[in-house]
Amino acid sequence: NVRVRFAPSPTGPLHIGGVRTALFNYLFAKKHGGAFILRIEDTDQNRYVEGAEQYIIDALNWCGMPADESPVNPGNYGPYRQSERKALYKQYADKLIASGNAYYAFDTAEELDSHRKDHEAKGKTFIYNWHNRLKLKNSLSLSEEEVKAKLDSGEDYVIRFKSPQDETLNLKDIIRGDIQIDTNILDDKVLFKSDGMPTYHLANIVDDHLMEITHVIRGEEWLPSLALHYQLYEAFGWEAPEFAHLPLILKPTGKGKLSKRDGDKMGFPVFPLEWTDPKTGDVSRGYKEDGYFPEAMVNFLAFLGWNPGTEQEIFSLAELIDAFNLERVNKSGARFDPDKTKWFNHHYMQEQDNAELAKALKPIVDHKLDVIASEAKQSASLGEITSSQTPHNDVDVNYMEMVVALIKERATFISDFWNLSHFFFVAPTSYDEKASKKAFKDGTKAILEQVVSIIEDIEDFTVEIIQTKIKGWITANEIGFGKVMMPLRLALVGALQGPDVFDIMFMIGKGESKKRIENAIK
Ligand code: GLU
Repeated sequence: NVRVRFAPSPTGPLHIGGVRTALFNYLFAKKHGGAFILRIEDTDQNRYVEGAEQYIIDALNWCGMPADESPVNPGNYGPYRQSERKALYKQYADKLIASGNAYYAFDTAEELDSHRKDHEAKGKTFIYNWHNRLKLKNSLSLSEEEVKAKLDSGEDYVIRFKSPQDETLNLKDIIRGDIQIDTNILDDKVLFKSDGMPTYHLANIVDDHLMEITHVIRGEEWLPSLALHYQLYEAFGWEAPEFAHLPLILKPTGKGKLSKRDGDKMGFPVFPLEWTDPKTGDVSRGYKEDGYFPEAMVNFLAFLGWNPGTEQEIFSLAELIDAFNLERVNKSGARFDPDKTKWFNHHYMQEQDNAELAKALKPIVDHKLDVIASEAKQSASLGEITSSQTPHNDVDVNYMEMVVALIKERATFISDFWNLSHFFFVAPTSYDEKASKKAFKDGTKAILEQVVSIIEDIEDFTVEIIQTKIKGWITANEIGFGKVMMPLRLALVGALQGPDVFDIMFMIGKGESKKRIENAIK
C-alpha cells in the first residue's frame, strides 16, 4: 500500500519547486492507488511564519491535489503537525542513546565555533565525528558521573548521532541509482535539543516510520541527508522507505538554482498563489492571481524534471497520473521557462468554456465601460466634442460570449481580453498613426463612402451577406482588397488588428458599423 508524504516546513509560501515536489508525490500516490499525506514540519519555531500552513493547503487545493491526510483532514496517523507530536520524539532519541547509536553533547556554540576556527587556521575543516569526538564535551568523552551531573543541573545539551568510522554505506535512490558513501566524511548530526524539540532528521525519520511512508519523494537538496537517514532506520531496526530525490529547478538562464527572489527580478511569479509577507506587508505575485489556470500550472510543473518519452506535451492531471513514473524523472536540473508556462496557459484558455469565460469577463468589461462613460461625461461637460461612442455599460452576457468565441485564440490570460476586444464595445476614439498612413490614402474616402452605401442596402445583416456584398463589389470593380479592407478595419477597430472585419461588423451591427466608417472619413 503506497503512502507518500509532502512534508514542507511552514517558513513562508511554497515556491514552484515545492509545488512540483507535492505534485510528483501526488501523481505517484494516485498512480498506485495510494495515499498522499501532508505533514507540516514545524519543529523549528524560530522559522515559523504565520499563515504559511494555510497557504500550503490552499495551494494544493488550487492545483487540484488535496491531501488525503493532513492537519485539516486527519487520517489514522495523526497528528499531522510535528509541533503537536513533540512529546513523541524524546523516547526515540533515548532509544538511540540506550543502543549506543547516539550520545549527549554539551559543547556550547562558542566552543564549537572556536574549534572550527582552530581547524581553519591549520587549513583543516572541523567535523564533529569519530575523529574529534573524544576531544569534545560529550557522553563519550566524559565520565558517567560528569554527564549525570550536567543533565541534573539542567545544562543545555544536544543528542548527536554516532556516525561510524571506516564504513561504506550503500544507498539507493530510484532516480539516481546506487550511491556509496564513506562514513568518515559524515558528521555526528544533532537529533534532539534540550529545549525538547527534535531536529528535522529525527522527527522526519520517526514520522515517516510511524506514518508508514513507503516512498520518500523530495528535492535534491535532501540528498546529503540520505546517508544519515539510512543509518537512523538501521539503528532503529526499521525498514527504510524507498527514496527518490527530484532534480533542481534552474533559473531561466539555466545557470543556478531558481530562487524565491528570481521571480521579482525576472518578471514572473515563483509562487502558486499571491503571498503577503505578514511582517513586511510585501506582496509577491502568484500564478493564480496572474491569471494562470491550475491545469496549466500542473502541466508545466510536471515537465520540470519529468517527461513522458513521447511528443505529447498536454496532459490533464488524470493523464499525468496515468503516464507518470519515477523512472522517467531526470537526474539533471530542469530549466524553468516562463514563456513555456504562458504557452500552456494559452492552450488551456482554448479549453475553457465560453459561457464561463463570458461570466468572468462581464464585470471587467462593465467596469471598463463605466470608466469610459464617466470620462466621456466629464469631457462633455468641459465642452469638448465627444466621439460617437455610446457605451452600453451593462454588457449582455450572450454578446460577451460571442466576443469570447472570436477573441479567445489570441488570448493567453483573461486580462488580455479587453485589449483584444474593446472595439466590440466602444468605437475607436483615435486611429493608430502608422496604420493610418498605411491605410488612408487619396481615394480612401470615396471607397469608404461606397462601403457605407453598400451597408445601408443590406437588410439581413449577417456575416455571410455582408461579406458577399462587399467582396463582390471589390471584385466587380477590381479595387484591390487591401485598399478597402485596411481602411475599413482601421475605421472599425482603430488599429490594423483584431478578428475578421465582417465578424466585427456583424457583432456591432449595421448602425454602429456605418457610424464608425462615417466618423473615420468625416
Ligand atoms: N521539511 C523538509 C522540507 O521543508 C522536508 C524534507 C523531506 O521531505 O524529507 O523540505
